[in-house]
Amino acid sequence: MTATNHALTGAAVATVLRQPLLIVPVAFASHFVCDALPHFKMHHVVGDRIKWSLLYAEGALMVVLGLILLAIGVHQPVWLLIVAALIAMSPDVAWYYYGRRGIHNDIDKLDPLTRFHSWIQWSETRAGLVLELAWAGLMIGVILK
Ligand SMILES: [Zn+2]
Repeated sequence: MTATNHALTGAAVATVLRQPLLIVPVAFASHFVCDALPHFKMHHVVGDRIKWSLLYAEGALMVVLGLILLAIGVHQPVWLLIVAALIAMSPDVAWYYYGRRGIHNDIDKLDPLTRFHSWIQWSETRAGLVLELAWAGLMIGVILK
């Protein structure tokens, strides 16, 4: 799933649970639930060179979305939503780590959690963009409820 949707899901988890000690593990686990859903994969649309530019653009989108949500008003402390969003995105740091070493496609060289992370992503298609947009709307609705 896109980083934006992982971040929105983490913020939604923090909005619903309201218990910091529960938010951390649930926000982390939400990453794998989201990645198990059919979703969009940027690599199917663009090459590696453009992919990094789009990732930076997605980072800017997350900042803009965060500012809009703050302007509208959220029900939890902002720092808690940000921490939950970062925790929810954190498993994808492994792809950066393995990608920089050029072994992200070599399943035997991945740690067990990242192997699991790869295995659950059974459907990454262009059509997954529809679910990504619907998911983003749902998570924004939860955050603003
Ligand atoms: Zn992931």
